[in-house]
Amino acid sequence: MPILHLLLALLLAHKTENVILVTYDGLRWQEVFEGADESLFTKEQAAARKAYGRDAADARRTALLPFLWGTVAKQGQIFGNGPKGSVARVTNDKRFSYPGYNEILCGFGDARIDSNDKKPNPNVSVLEWLHGKDAYRGRVAAFAEWDCFPAILNVARSGLFVNAGIATVEGPGLSEREKTLNQVLLATTWPHADQRSDALTFLMAQAYFERTKPRVLFISFGETDEWAHEGRYDFVLESAHRIDGYIARLWEEVQSMPAYAGKTSLVITTDHGRGGAPEEWKSHGEKIPASDRIWIAVLGPDTRALGERTNCAEVTQSQVAATVAALLGEDWGAAESKSGKAIADAIGP
Ligand SMILES: [Zn+2]
Repeated sequence: MPILHLLLALLLAHKTENVILVTYDGLRWQEVFEGADESLFTKEQAAARKAYGRDAADARRTALLPFLWGTVAKQGQIFGNGPKGSVARVTNDKRFSYPGYNEILCGFGDARIDSNDKKPNPNVSVLEWLHGKDAYRGRVAAFAEWDCFPAILNVARSGLFVNAGIATVEGPGLSEREKTLNQVLLATTWPHADQRSDALTFLMAQAYFERTKPRVLFISFGETDEWAHEGRYDFVLESAHRIDGYIARLWEEVQSMPAYAGKTSLVITTDHGRGGAPEEWKSHGEKIPASDRIWIAVLGPDTRALGERTNCAEVTQSQVAATVAALLGEDWGAAESKSGKAIADAIGP
């Protein structure tokens, strides 16, 4: 092979062997691209205003999400800044969680999924499909703050490892750290029977990641949505900032592990948007059309550093599943014809 062709082949060679998919529940594109909205702070929220308030939008968003803007948006791509001509949206008309996670994980909106009830998902997710392949079997895992995920990922059928809500990590060979985290989970008074904290979700996922080395890891965080429903803008921002920090820690760890460094891609998104100021930001759903606007970020060795996307084609939530698969060199669309296509710009040269 002529040397030029060899160089070209090396340049174009697909590098991603592992994918980490992370979701922030209901984190608005407004906070992601413009940072804290000054008008939404109450008098009592001076500490949060001090922490996240800045004059310029670029400074506000970097103060809120330093990893997303300092690393992901510099080395990868982020879609969804509507005012700059990049629209990302959900295609399901429900604009709440289960329909959104179904669309993210399966690649299409499904009118049958019309509640957050824990009904086993009739659809096969890209995670279940990957887990069915020899190369991924037993190496796909999901951790979630919300205990609806065993239903969303239909564990009875899929056999996926899903740890969600007030559930300990089970199985042989647990590390000391995992055992301790299980004890913390069981020793805590949880105000909601169906949710645990994002902090514990992260720590449990991280400990599991270190022990089992999954090829596909999905982590779903939820507090950004919970606090918005309660009207606590300060805690929405703090939760978002913490989640950004969790992802930064995991990414740093990935770069220190030979099995992952330079071979791992990261996809970050949200299940739905929310309404606008001054009141509808607390909510989302069928009655709030603006909650269809989301954002999607991709970082990894196969993703060009195009940064914050502007004036580009619209992308949809239904493209996330195929994008995750394509990053791994797999074709989800061939298995699920209803799925949106991978985001072409984000998956290769
Ligand atoms: Zn919600």
